[in-house]
Amino acid sequence: MLERFLKYVTFDTESCDDATTVPTTEGQFVFARYLEQQLKEMGLEEVVLDEKGYLYATLPANCAKEIPVVGFIAHLDTSPDMSGKDVKPRVVENYAGGDIVLCEKDNIVLSVADFPEIEDYKGQDIVVTDGHTLLGADDKAGIAEIVTAIAYLQAHPEIEHGKIRIAFNPDEEIGRGAHNFNVPLFGCDWAYTIDGGSEGELEFENFNAGSATFAIQGRNVHPGYAKGKMLNSLRVAADIVSAIPASESPECTAGYEGFYHLMGINGGVDHSDVSYIIRDHNREIFEKRMAFMREVETAMNAKYGNGVVTLELKEQYRNMREQVEPKMHIIELAKSAMEQAGVVPQIKPIRGGTDGAQLSFMGLSCPNLFAGGINFHSRYEFVSVQVMEKAVMTIVNIAAGAAKR
Ligand SMILES: [Zn+2]
Repeated sequence: MLERFLKYVTFDTESCDDATTVPTTEGQFVFARYLEQQLKEMGLEEVVLDEKGYLYATLPANCAKEIPVVGFIAHLDTSPDMSGKDVKPRVVENYAGGDIVLCEKDNIVLSVADFPEIEDYKGQDIVVTDGHTLLGADDKAGIAEIVTAIAYLQAHPEIEHGKIRIAFNPDEEIGRGAHNFNVPLFGCDWAYTIDGGSEGELEFENFNAGSATFAIQGRNVHPGYAKGKMLNSLRVAADIVSAIPASESPECTAGYEGFYHLMGINGGVDHSDVSYIIRDHNREIFEKRMAFMREVETAMNAKYGNGVVTLELKEQYRNMREQVEPKMHIIELAKSAMEQAGVVPQIKPIRGGTDGAQLSFMGLSCPNLFAGGINFHSRYEFVSVQVMEKAVMTIVNIAAGAAKR
């Protein structure tokens, strides 16, 4: 597993938000072709790399029982937030605790003061960077774990399992990972993304998400002659902002608390726009929040004149809990698979969206499981080899558990 992982991180697969191609960078294709070859050499079936850089493969069932088809998904790309070129991973064996110097020359240190959680990994082997790039454990740890779990199942024919599907997709980090995912071709009853962080993470709740943009049309007049004539759109903008509770903002909320996030105020006297994003795990409260934006629009038009404020409301994505809830057995299966691997499941709500959420609404229920990486998207990213091994066994146990249901 470690050998695979150390090889995978040498591929530069940074995705790019500005590109319109699929995948957005050629490096992701290069890596996908390498994996395609590797999966074929392992003897997997139905190995398909499509023209958009999505790679699918099958480990056939090894018994005749009726067993649901379970899938495992990880993403090929790394975040554009930090360079992923010329990654030089280093394994700190049997980490003794204390600071880890990543680059002596440039004095880049993974320090206990800044990252106290590193001391949780005392006695483990941890993979770090040289301080000049991200590591890419997000999500090459997930890929290495899936491929290793498949190899483990091949080496242990006594473990009965059904048909297992795997898929590696591009452009997750820029929010496009699910866009071209071929759910019918994947053909799974359900799947898991292996893209979470620390040991035990099990996520199946994300935000419901929407956006609200208030367009404000004012009336600009020479300030010397403006009395009774000017309508300053910026004052209306300020009024809108003060009508929306500031305590329900990202900086004041955590856990299951939703928010209104003021994203921008742009414009001048004549015209301005105020934009918000709206988030809540609870569907009902989310809808109330969206409706409240409409009330603000109505109140402002009553105050300043009809048509001064025009609100555009958009729904962006939904909480996958709605899709997963009728199939809670897929969560129970993941939980018991973790426990058998010596992992304590940590169920927590995602304060954002995931590829799994999009896939869930494309008809594929898809909770997210830990891959082990810490400090994603940064030069301080690291992953524990022992945690990765537990992720491998979690995948193996899910495959075995699905056959026992
Ligand atoms: Zn990821």
